[in-house]
Amino acid sequence: MEKKEQLYEGKAKKVFVTEDPEKLIVSYKDDATAFNGLKKGTISGKGAINNRMSNFLMGMLEKHGVPTHFVEELNDRETVVKKVSIVPLEVIIRNISAGSFAKRYGVEEGIAFEEPTIEFSYKNDDLGDPLMNSYHALALKLATKEEIETIKAMAFRVNEVLKAYFLNLGIELVDFKLEFGRLSDGTIVLADEISPDTCRLWDAKTHEKLDKDRFRRDMGGVEEAYQEVMRRLMGE
Ligand code: ADP
Ligand code: UDP
Repeated sequence: MEKKEQLYEGKAKKVFVTEDPEKLIVSYKDDATAFNGLKKGTISGKGAINNRMSNFLMGMLEKHGVPTHFVEELNDRETVVKKVSIVPLEVIIRNISAGSFAKRYGVEEGIAFEEPTIEFSYKNDDLGDPLMNSYHALALKLATKEEIETIKAMAFRVNEVLKAYFLNLGIELVDFKLEFGRLSDGTIVLADEISPDTCRLWDAKTHEKLDKDRFRRDMGGVEEAYQEVMRRLMGE
């Protein structure tokens, strides 16, 4: 399968149409942004790591019964995915307090929750991805009630599978963001990516950060952290 014209260039990926109207090719970039695009930089080798890691994790989720957009990895940076109409919600699951949760509620980072939490942000860069609940999403007709129920159930299932998988590798899955989309027949599948750009991952022993927070917070060792997660996942 080959790339045809570019459909979209986002902050971390380019998206191309293909000869198959139901398939797209995504191409992962090394570009990194934070704080709604205010902070910009590059993380050398990130595109290849995120591509391979996201495909690996989505393949694993498929085996656990979670439908995803993943079709085929073409090369280091490029993957064929099923074309979806993205539900404009960022679905965030949290197991441990961090980031905007800690800030919003005035608590420290690192409080482990008894039960995971779920929240939605409206995927809209102009508005800065505002937080919203499922009633707001329904009112704005971003998704139907059934779709929201499906998305919630799938997101918690993804958490169960990933949390256990990462813990086995000595990594705590602190929180993460998912995106879902509709196939042409309306089926909801997991889309976009799962990577250290979209997950907070802490070493289970030392609590060292192994994710994009190293970039957001100018902590250094960003490339090394991404490589370390990759090494633990794939033994390389
Ligand atoms: P952003 O748009 O936030 O800058 P990216 O650079 O990651 O993000 O761009 C990838 C875009 O492709 C995102 O808008 C994402 O919602 C969209 N996308 C991800 N998977 C699919 C898919 N299977 N079909 C259609 N669009 C997708
Ligand atoms: N996240 C993401 N994209 C976004 C916002 C958040 O991938 O546009 C991820 C982020 O990496 C973290 C989780 O979602 O793993 C929760 O992020 P949070 O709400 O704490 O926001 P942040 O601290 O990134 O502003």
